[in-house]
Amino acid sequence: MIFIGLQPSLAAGDAVATGTRVGGDENRTRFVADISKTVNYSVYVLPDPYRVVIDLPNVTFDLPPGIGQKVRGLVSQYRYGQVEEGKSRIVIDTQGPVLIEKSFLVDPQPGQPARLVVDLVKTTEKAFVKSYNSEQAKLQQDIAALSAEPLAPPAAEKKIILPNKRGKKIIVLDPGHGGIDPGAISRAGTKEKDVVLSFASVLRKALLATGKYEVVMTRSDDRFISLRNRVTVARDKNADLFLAIHADTVRGKDARGVTLYTLSEKASDAEAEALAKRENRADIIGGLDLEAETEEITDILIDLAQRESKNHAMFFSKKAVSHLKPLTLMTGKPLRSAGFMVLKAPDVPSVLLELGFLSSESDEKLLTSAAWQTKIAKAFATAMDAYFATELASTAN
Ligand SMILES: [Zn+2]
Repeated sequence: MIFIGLQPSLAAGDAVATGTRVGGDENRTRFVADISKTVNYSVYVLPDPYRVVIDLPNVTFDLPPGIGQKVRGLVSQYRYGQVEEGKSRIVIDTQGPVLIEKSFLVDPQPGQPARLVVDLVKTTEKAFVKSYNSEQAKLQQDIAALSAEPLAPPAAEKKIILPNKRGKKIIVLDPGHGGIDPGAISRAGTKEKDVVLSFASVLRKALLATGKYEVVMTRSDDRFISLRNRVTVARDKNADLFLAIHADTVRGKDARGVTLYTLSEKASDAEAEALAKRENRADIIGGLDLEAETEEITDILIDLAQRESKNHAMFFSKKAVSHLKPLTLMTGKPLRSAGFMVLKAPDVPSVLLELGFLSSESDEKLLTSAAWQTKIAKAFATAMDAYFATELASTAN
């Protein structure tokens, strides 16, 4: 069941979430959020893994760090943040299938914030699926009812690719994670989403300084972007190169260094496969319904384009490694491949850069150092120059 709380009048200005509480046991659990004022909200469940999603308007979360990490009753953990302009979200991971028994919002009282209450009850997988399916069917009906107006003409099948008149190569930089999804977090509390955004900004500057590139960022602030939308940016911009930027953690403190990943269905090794699995969870962490997000691409031409893009991506990665190696520590195997969702733009050479490991204090120090970031960014700019120069030579007739 979808619960939608609509309030007739809302005061201007963002609401602030000032506290959350979880109470109850493994059969029945109540989740409460204190919010500075009355807001519209909707609550629904998602499968695979089981989650409860609370959609809210822009809410500033003023909550103690580390909140939401403890198991309590049916709740295994929860996170919160902005998912898009004007839209915030709380995602609650549950121990198993649950139903939303009820949800309501208590208006603020003098000296007391508004309270958003969600009551969860344990259920069977079968009952969950039934409820989820009827919820989806109802959603479709609502959408159909809303679009009683004549349908807009279908979007053009093929995108028209405009030649890049200024002759600049288009680079899309994709700082991973953001908003509700912090990515990896170091022991000291450094968040992957912040480190990669900071590096991407430095790299953007280094690329612009050459005068050869047009640089597009998938995000330039702390916001959540789905993996599909990241890929869409690369395709829509008709990018010459897409570079996803990450900084992972692993168990143990010893793993260190830079690695470059390209796309392959079969992972180059178990570590690469595990990493791709973790990175591909970003949409789940953001509370997206993957059923609705999946886009089937079956065109054989796309397959061919993908093969060529992969070759280019591999070629660039090799160039990058040769430029980086003299400057900084690389992992033992700095060129790897796995099935990263974000690298799947069929017509854009796409590479995922792991800057290092936030689980290593030494790497963390480098990753957060402006001098190191600048040095590595410059090396990447040089590697791109070399890549495109060779590229141009090999395609010129
Ligand atoms: Zn990551």
